[in-house]
Amino acid sequence: MKIFCIGRNYVDHAKELNNEVPTEPVVFLKPKSALLQAGVPFYYPEFTNELHYEAELVLRVAKNGRYVPQRHAHKYYNAITVGLDFTARDIQNELKKKGLPWEKAKAWDSSAVIGSWFDFTPDMAKNGIDFQLDVNGETRQAGHSSDMIFHFNELVENITQYFSINIGDLIFTGTPAGVGEVVVGDVLEGYLEQEKAFRLEIK
Ligand code: MG
Repeated sequence: MKIFCIGRNYVDHAKELNNEVPTEPVVFLKPKSALLQAGVPFYYPEFTNELHYEAELVLRVAKNGRYVPQRHAHKYYNAITVGLDFTARDIQNELKKKGLPWEKAKAWDSSAVIGSWFDFTPDMAKNGIDFQLDVNGETRQAGHSSDMIFHFNELVENITQYFSINIGDLIFTGTPAGVGEVVVGDVLEGYLEQEKAFRLEIK
């Protein structure tokens, strides 16, 4: 199982971190060991002092593929949820300065959190999807899939030019503005179309 992640896929988020708005998808991967398993607590990692949440829509791959054109891409995913692409921002900033890879900031154990799965419906394909992240009961991020620079099918097309996708792979589709720091004791709740997808406490 592979975890694909898309960076800078919302204009307002690219700007809040002073990044350029990309002209093609920014893709990175997390290993399988990055996925927080159900029922396992999330512990604040020791190697960072600036842990950031990034709430994102996550697609689940339903069909093996390579070189998938946009017009067929919708057949390659069938479920969606809200997840967290946890980022050690202090480490990422250091790595970015040096032009080094991001894995130590983004791909560590339990850095990928996913909520419960929802069927991806034709209505979602047509009207898009709302999602939201609350921290301690206060809304910090609210996004809509229509605000993505590269939409689901463009992402599948682009990813599969480089990588095969397989059943069960995940695609984190990028975060809207409002990313920020968490501390031990914070409670994060993700919502997809007003329905709760996950609740996570930082231990
Ligand atoms: Mg992200």
